[in-house]
Amino acid sequence: MAVYEEIQQFLAGRIWLRHVMPFPTEKIDEAIDQGWIQTMKGVIEKPTWHGKQYQCNRCLNENPSPFTIFQCAQCETTCAYCRNCLKMGRVSSCSELLVWTGQAPAYPTDHRMNWQGNLTPSQEKATNELLDSTKQGISHLLYAVCGSGKTEMLFQPIHYLLNEGKRVCLAAPRVDVILELLPRLQAAFPDTVIEALYGGAEVERFDAQLILATTHQLYRFHEAFDAIFVDEADAFPYTADETLQRAVKKAVKPSAPIHFVTATPSAQLLAMNKKQGNISILARRYHGKPLPEPRNETLWNYEKQLKKKRIPKKLLQWTKERLENQQPFLIFFHQIELMEIAEPLFQQLDERICAVHAEHADRKERVQMLRKKEIPGLLTTTILERGITIPNVQVAVVGAEQTIFNKGALIQIGGRVGRSVPHTAGDFVLFHQGITNAMDEAKREIRKLNKQEILQ
Ligand SMILES: [Zn+2]
Ligand SMILES: [Zn+2]
Repeated sequence: MAVYEEIQQFLAGRIWLRHVMPFPTEKIDEAIDQGWIQTMKGVIEKPTWHGKQYQCNRCLNENPSPFTIFQCAQCETTCAYCRNCLKMGRVSSCSELLVWTGQAPAYPTDHRMNWQGNLTPSQEKATNELLDSTKQGISHLLYAVCGSGKTEMLFQPIHYLLNEGKRVCLAAPRVDVILELLPRLQAAFPDTVIEALYGGAEVERFDAQLILATTHQLYRFHEAFDAIFVDEADAFPYTADETLQRAVKKAVKPSAPIHFVTATPSAQLLAMNKKQGNISILARRYHGKPLPEPRNETLWNYEKQLKKKRIPKKLLQWTKERLENQQPFLIFFHQIELMEIAEPLFQQLDERICAVHAEHADRKERVQMLRKKEIPGLLTTTILERGITIPNVQVAVVGAEQTIFNKGALIQIGGRVGRSVPHTAGDFVLFHQGITNAMDEAKREIRKLNKQEILQ
């Protein structure tokens, strides 16, 4: 393959640091001379009314606090680098960024879709609406309750785009979601070049037509995609981080649609799509049964009791019942520290009970063990609030009044219960020391969804 083509395949749609390009310098120089590659400074200074301000050309961050000013050995002057996108390799004032401006690569237009499942009439309706928006290039919000089968509703629009020779991205804020989606997409599109990008991923092909990526990875894209689907759009850190939202915008081609898929859209996302996009609502799970409503139970001084090496009575009772009935369970905690104090106490009931949080590398295996009934239950942080399905799982939240359990988090946590046939119901208990607005709001929204009254 000619070097031109290799560089084209690698760089098209990306914004890449010149000094880490895997090609000989003279070839890159040649491509620049030919006008196939445009260069730009990594960090620029922009004049403002109060002096000057830095801007990172990769992640577009202009907030002054994430810039570090240092004496640079490279350019031998005072240089600034951006900490906001530092994980993707350091971008500083004297580093050069490259974008591809040559011919766009041509992608295949004959993709096989190998998916045998059936869509319910409401899924069918939503997927057709999403397809229409995709064809018209209009952003679409797919507001679909937990367990409504939202991934399947993306297949048809993605298939349409692939067959048009378009490049597509499916982005999610969390790596767990990406890892969950990858095998499903690979199975649905067996002949399509698909790559998953996340921190530490082994990338084999740079010319993938369908890319699954954590939103962070989008810092390294530039007008690459003809459409992007943001899954779990309300999940941390996407909602909290403006630069990630900007990264999504700059990763798509100008005027390409950005679609959002979520069970718990923020008021802002709803308002935005009411104004300039389309919305489909799926208030029913694919099996047609209602979402489990939370029930509130007081649990006074749970923190103190756990620290005194006692499981509070109601929580102990609840756990024993699950063990006796052989129902798998998840118990959510607001804090790792408290969960780790609780872990050995629960292990006295059954030594196989264990805890998982974000730093546990083997949390996927532990979830798998719960699914296979090799362990009876898990203690967890909000890391398991979404993206997992365990048949017949029962869920408790300890300290539901804590601020980390906002409305969206509680709805997602409850969304783990009753997902699969035949266990379409289950217990969803909020142990608390005082009912919060978030608890009330979550309950109200679940009721509204069950009555199909949302947004009507
Ligand atoms: Zn940056
Ligand atoms: Zn420098």
